Amino acid sequence: LGSDSGSRKSVVAVGEDQAGLSLLARHAPTEVAVSGFVSIMRGCNQRCSFCIVPSTRGEEQSRSIEEIADEVEGLVAAGLREVTLLGQIVTSYGVKELGSRGCMPFVRLIERVHEIEGLERIRFTSPHPKGLRVELMEAFRDLPKLCEHMHLPLQSGSTRILKQMRRTYSKELFLEKVERLRSLVPSIAITTDIIVGFPGETEEDFQDTIDVVKAADFDNAFVFRYSKRRDTPAAAMDGQLPEEVKQERNQILLALLEEQAMRHNQCLVGSIEEVLVEGPSKRNPDRLSGRTRSNKIVVYPGSPRHVGQLLPIRIERAMPFTLYGDPVILE
Ligand code: SF4
Repeated sequence: LGSDSGSRKSVVAVGEDQAGLSLLARHAPTEVAVSGFVSIMRGCNQRCSFCIVPSTRGEEQSRSIEEIADEVEGLVAAGLREVTLLGQIVTSYGVKELGSRGCMPFVRLIERVHEIEGLERIRFTSPHPKGLRVELMEAFRDLPKLCEHMHLPLQSGSTRILKQMRRTYSKELFLEKVERLRSLVPSIAITTDIIVGFPGETEEDFQDTIDVVKAADFDNAFVFRYSKRRDTPAAAMDGQLPEEVKQERNQILLALLEEQAMRHNQCLVGSIEEVLVEGPSKRNPDRLSGRTRSNKIVVYPGSPRHVGQLLPIRIERAMPFTLYGDPVILE
């Protein structure tokens, strides 16, 4: 997934103390990037057995819609073009404060941020598959600023392991949601997080993960080899796997994902993509780097004055994690 330019910054830091969300707002940005993150909540009420977040960040607490909108407005006035709404479990945003009846509070937040003039793009991370309701899927279809990219953490493709992880969905439910999302938004890119080598993961469980990766046809993924986290239930589970097994499964999965990423990217060769130019490419500072709406990195030859602009770029060449192109000369 990665980043090829230095201009995506967390513009609001998440405080580690329990003093509350006002801390979030007090971390004023010193430099406003083209694309940045704004924290909308902290904490998580899920109890995934491998995760340390609930014990370190505590219960979910959400900032108000207006406070977030005010902050995004201020950042846009200072040059921000794309915002990523950030939280451990954004699909639970505002449930405690605004209630879960009626329209999802998170969708209400996106709709409010969508009204901000001068803001071109909205993204978010991370949702929980259980909270991916149809109204959120429809927001991708109905709100032009909401970019067609969903990072939807799978963690495992084995329903048995998902249960051990306390993820509260099955392999079938996950795939149903992916299918529904793709039917509503055919151009959406879907990426994920996967843990390999969770305690007790058999060859059959791992094969289930492979099957889901293929069936969901992910564009890309972060793959993690399971490692114990202090004071988590999974750390005390029987069936901890040797490092060699985790490493082997990691390699198999990475190879498959690279193949899928390449295939997805190859499909874009010859197309014209809208790219938000973020800054010089890290690997080749003579070139510029930006992202498509589907969050793919595009590197192209261009002028520094392009930074912050949305440009049409014709994709000429694809690699698994980067696209290369040329600006389209408009008549
Ligand atoms: S993995 Fe995500 S959803 Fe699960 S407890 Fe951690 S932060 Fe919450």
